[in-house]
Amino acid sequence: MTKRRITENGDFGGILDRLRNDPEYWGSCPDCGDEFRLCDAQLFSLSEELPEAALARIAQLKTDLKERRAELALARAPLTNARLTAVIGRWRGSTV
Ligand SMILES: [Zn+2]
Repeated sequence: MTKRRITENGDFGGILDRLRNDPEYWGSCPDCGDEFRLCDAQLFSLSEELPEAALARIAQLKTDLKERRAELALARAPLTNARLTAVIGRWRGSTV
């Protein structure tokens, strides 16, 4: 048996090409468990230029993260103001 090694350019000795083209290989979605043919998926190596679908997904995740941060900042704002008011109230109480 020949050992296959990952070459410098990230080619798994042709494994990626085989998975992209051979309908015998299946995968299952880590999110919903659905099974699918690997040849129907967007398989890519991180050493290659990322396919459009991967770039679009990354952009979507960044947008989602920005929105989530804005929501958290809004949710935190009243708490911060309440704490500030309490601190000011204590300070006033101690100096009067
Ligand atoms: Zn799924």
